[in-house]
Amino acid sequence: LCKSNGRKGYSFYSRSLNQVAAERLLIDQQLRGALERGEFSLVYQPIVYSQGGKLKGFEALIRWNNPELGSISPVKFIEVAEQVGLISEIGTWVLREATEQLKAWQLKYNRPLIMSINVSPRQFQDETILPALKSVIKQTGVLPGSIQLEVTEGLFLSASDRILDGIDYLKQSGVLLALDDFGTGFSSLSYLNRLPFNVLKVDKSFVDGLTTNSKDLKMVQAIISIAHGLQMEVVVEGVETAHQISLLRDMKADSIQGFYFSRPLSAKEAEVQFLSKPVILEMNEDIWDKL
Ligand code: C2E
Ligand code: MG
Ligand code: MG
Ligand code: MG
Repeated sequence: LCKSNGRKGYSFYSRSLNQVAAERLLIDQQLRGALERGEFSLVYQPIVYSQGGKLKGFEALIRWNNPELGSISPVKFIEVAEQVGLISEIGTWVLREATEQLKAWQLKYNRPLIMSINVSPRQFQDETILPALKSVIKQTGVLPGSIQLEVTEGLFLSASDRILDGIDYLKQSGVLLALDDFGTGFSSLSYLNRLPFNVLKVDKSFVDGLTTNSKDLKMVQAIISIAHGLQMEVVVEGVETAHQISLLRDMKADSIQGFYFSRPLSAKEAEVQFLSKPVILEMNEDIWDKL
């Protein structure tokens, strides 16, 4: 490809590779000590039941604000953190912070609420996740069943049987398990049976074509049917329009997450918009009426 583009193409390509490498290096440098300097925070995106429209809980998503680099997307820095061995430390912080927030909200609002937390395969390989989870559950006293761990298929590419057994064990404690980004990458149906997942999260890439591409619609329908057949709930991610919601409700998707309801919010904003008032129901009745 580079050659066929001639010298210009080649030099452009190699320069951009250098840029990528330089950016990685900067991220790597700044990532060290970022936790100690308090540069990470969490934002929370609501997950809403598609029937009735009640709030199910939130997905915790990490944010990094660095004085040198500004605000860096987790898509960029999580991968670097995994490669340079910093992910477990960061992941443990996420787990603690999100669970403490969950506990505070459960106490304050006295309502059922789950917190869904992204976990990197490396946290299982390093075997830091189980002790961290045990300790934070013990310390906060949350019900294990109100914590949901989101893993991707990357786990299966790297985890030994022993690690998968460990996760199985973890599940017996009641912690929920979700398969994130389903339908992207090399998703194999056999993954669905390798671990006792409670939830399958359908990736945004299918949702984008839901109203325009009948094949995407069929695909989501089939995924929902397989998941339900295996006693898994379906959460659909990246939902942005009322039309998509209406189709997903008809297809019996269990819950919905996306900009339609809200972008990920600070804890304070999440409280005001989704926890302090019983608005989710009313708000959603409005939404359902509008369809
Ligand atoms: P994910 O776990 O699949 O999270 C969903 C991503 O989609 C989030 O991006 C969210 O802001 C975005 N999103 C949600 N609804 C919509 C929508 O309607 N439209 C669009 N365009 N986007 C939507 P974010 O926060 O940038 O996170 C990206 C990825 O970074 C996450 O994908 C996850 O893989 C990773 N990540 C985020 N936080 C953590 C963390 O604490 N630990 C680990 N290991 N990974 C994390
Ligand atoms: Mg996720
Ligand atoms: Mg996802
Ligand atoms: Mg994703």
